[in-house]
Amino acid sequence: ANQVQRKPDWLRVKLPVGKEYAHVRSLVDTHKLHTICESGNCPNMGECWGAGTATFMILGNICTRSCSFCAVATGRPLAVDLDEPNRVATSVKLMQVKHCVITSVDRDDLKDGGSTIWAETINAIRKESPETTLETLLPDFKGNWENLKRVLAVRPEVVSHNLETVRRLTREVRIQAKYDRSLECLSHIAAEGLRTKSGIMLGLGETEEDVIEAMTDLRNAGVHILTLGQYLQPTRAHHPVIDWITPEQFIYYKQIGLNMGFRYVESGPLVRSSYHAEKHLFEFE
Ligand code: SF4
Ligand code: SF4
Repeated sequence: ANQVQRKPDWLRVKLPVGKEYAHVRSLVDTHKLHTICESGNCPNMGECWGAGTATFMILGNICTRSCSFCAVATGRPLAVDLDEPNRVATSVKLMQVKHCVITSVDRDDLKDGGSTIWAETINAIRKESPETTLETLLPDFKGNWENLKRVLAVRPEVVSHNLETVRRLTREVRIQAKYDRSLECLSHIAAEGLRTKSGIMLGLGETEEDVIEAMTDLRNAGVHILTLGQYLQPTRAHHPVIDWITPEQFIYYKQIGLNMGFRYVESGPLVRSSYHAEKHLFEFE
């Protein structure tokens, strides 16, 4: 297709080096943790790991879904690891994480959608590190809102669910998901009075009109915090990059978002759902 190959200069990032980076690296390896930073080939690993933050991925590293943008492996997941909540909690404590971001693969194979391990993980971190604030990037639980509510009951400080793309591209980008189901998921989170966050990737072929429609829908669902970032293709087998969105365009969207009433908009080429996550929390106070 009309795929653009060459990365513009504004996407060049520093290689991961330094003492703190090495420390996080060794904890992740020792405790056999999965991070979305690595699975997603995130360009910010140098910056985030260097600052002692990482996004843990729970419930294994094999996903039941196969979104065309995502580098996480698809297949039949392994059995749930009941010790995982403790392992994650121990690592969060050792890393002295101030604001901890957790996400998971989608476990459409499980009756509870993984919500029990989710709740246990949050509780275990709270117990080990009572000062640490938590941000949970949740799946849509296939629309089983009882499962969603099992996690919300533990009341993480920030709860995200990513819309990922605009309505028109949802089928092509996240085949097993539904645009309206994601909006419904977000409105349940907001209805619980929790800080509600969502993100969209740009450069997948959406128009400006599409983006503004999605932003409006998110605001109407009650979302407070919005992230907008450039999509990067993890491998040649994944969805191509259709456009490189300019830094100016990201600033333009940010202004539109603030005018719509979002409390915080993180918008820029390198922005990921978990990028500068602790700032979102503090800006909220
Ligand atoms: Fe990890 Fe998120 Fe930072 Fe990327 S932006 S390195 S995924 S914490
Ligand atoms: Fe990746 Fe999440 Fe899609 Fe699974 S559901 S393929 S982890 S984006």
